[in-house]
Amino acid sequence: MRLLVVEDEKKVASFIKKGLEEEGYAVDLASDGETGLSMALDRIHDLVILDLNLPKMDGLSILKQMRDQKTSTPVLLLTVRASIEDRVLGLDTGADDYLPKPFAFQELLARVRALLRRQADAQPPYLQIADLRLDPAQRVVYRGEQKIDLTPKEFALLDYFMRNQDRVLTRTMITEHVWDYNFDTETNVIDVYVNYLRKKIDTDRDSKLIHTVRGVGYVMKVD
Ligand code: CA
Repeated sequence: MRLLVVEDEKKVASFIKKGLEEEGYAVDLASDGETGLSMALDRIHDLVILDLNLPKMDGLSILKQMRDQKTSTPVLLLTVRASIEDRVLGLDTGADDYLPKPFAFQELLARVRALLRRQADAQPPYLQIADLRLDPAQRVVYRGEQKIDLTPKEFALLDYFMRNQDRVLTRTMITEHVWDYNFDTETNVIDVYVNYLRKKIDTDRDSKLIHTVRGVGYVMKVD
């Protein structure tokens, strides 16, 4: 996930960037409105965190131009103007949410997560990589024409891999997403399950999708 933060106050910008990076997001910064708009229009970000008061171009104008140019990236507005009129104007212009300054980082994070989740829900109903296809609603998996039967744990593991294609997943990340936080990571259960999954989706296939990253974990990608 890659986020764009458009904020001219250096302290606030670096506070947000640092906090989000610690949560595993990639973060780009723009410190004035014109730069922010041109980066937002590149459409490479999953979310834009946009300050209202900016040099060169204000946040609302950026937002309006983004929406006029059919850039549908979710936008979270940061505002010190807490009046109802301003919030309504922001939402009417096409913001997805807003957060009044000053804010607690945890609240920003919760709103970021909610917006990203909403965006993910709006995406195609199945996950796909190469000829492997997973339907989360029907809980079925196909590789090519062949249906693949998975246990619930294998299914959860594959779902996590497929939502994070091309991203190296450490055993800790896998544990936290697929097992629970109290799970004993010293055991080799993760490796055992990854191998079960590999046997079902990769064995006897020309192109392997799950790859070991030595000393780190695993990555799902097309070779
Ligand atoms: Ca500002």
